Amino acid sequence: MKKGTVELISVVKRYGDSEAVKKINLKIDGGSYCCLLGPSGCGKSTTLRMIAGHETATEGDILLNNRNVTDLPPRQRGTALMFQNYALFPHLNSLDNVTFSLKIAGVSAGERKARALDMLKLVNMDQFAEAFPDQLSGGQQQRVALARALINQPEVILLDEPLSALDPFLRTKMRTELKRIQQQLGITFIHVTHSQEEAFALADQVVVMNQGFIEQVDSPQGIFRTPRTAFVAQFIGGHNIIEGDLAPDQKALVVKDRAFPIPDTFSQENLSGISLRCDQISISTAPTATSLPDPLTIDFVEYQGSYVHVRGAFQDGLALSVYQSDHDWLDKPVKEGDAVYVTWCIDALNPLASIAP
Ligand code: ADP
Repeated sequence: MKKGTVELISVVKRYGDSEAVKKINLKIDGGSYCCLLGPSGCGKSTTLRMIAGHETATEGDILLNNRNVTDLPPRQRGTALMFQNYALFPHLNSLDNVTFSLKIAGVSAGERKARALDMLKLVNMDQFAEAFPDQLSGGQQQRVALARALINQPEVILLDEPLSALDPFLRTKMRTELKRIQQQLGITFIHVTHSQEEAFALADQVVVMNQGFIEQVDSPQGIFRTPRTAFVAQFIGGHNIIEGDLAPDQKALVVKDRAFPIPDTFSQENLSGISLRCDQISISTAPTATSLPDPLTIDFVEYQGSYVHVRGAFQDGLALSVYQSDHDWLDKPVKEGDAVYVTWCIDALNPLASIAP
């Protein structure tokens, strides 16, 4: 087992009558970058805080390197939590903020300073060692907070929405820095976010949560290419979700009066619908041999730079979103009110399961 491996076994967190985390099982490999992704209130921070030891698990076990840490206080776990608001001491400069816990632990002044400077260097803040928090930008304060979390050489670092307070430019810059630091140190990063873009950019493993459950655990590519449930497909965006009933011959999904052929590789059990990536649909102004016979009437066109979001509906009300490359769109621009024909390859369909509670 790699150092820094975290396991959650049947972990439940109840606040009074409400269950914030519902019996989850999860393994996070040591040295990996894991993102807990999901909408507000789905239980991400609670899960993170239970791993850190800042929250107790109502049921279940939390293991770090196979050692049961469920009942250990935060400092004895080998984890470090970086708080969302950075929580720096305003009356201490960067260096003293970073050395603070070493001082409490009785580390000598010389070693404290050397180790803190190393950490500040790692986060590119060594030139701000003497600066106080109110002299630093949000992004700089965050780097100091990260150095402070790293100073005790944790095996696992836990980050709660670390980029949410930064403006979009800084957010992307800091995202790259987090990945660099994680790779340089080779320790486990567990990062809570509600941004799918952030999770995709950073994670080796994405854990999608919804209402206290884990809906899917996979690589970013796995999540995007094969979302397991309608919730995952919707949350990450860029997918049409078509819910319907399986035809008696099990070769099609019946939606209203139409039947969408589905690949026979789909496991029929538990099939609740299909997802179809918006960028896997092509548009033509006249019917083609493979297009659906009835036209889609466009009701929305939004230019997004590299792609154009075109949305429309069939006469029976079924709606579809299509992402056209800007090249294709500029070649034959379609507009609201136009009737177009759509086609896709059957392999572009992905089965959606209804999640077992
Ligand atoms: P997320 O991080 O995904 O936004 P949280 O883990 O913070 O979600 O919260 C999950 C659920 O638990 C929410 O419904 C929230 O209101 C509830 N919750 C979180 N902390 C507490 C608490 N200290 N007391 C009561 N309920 C809480």
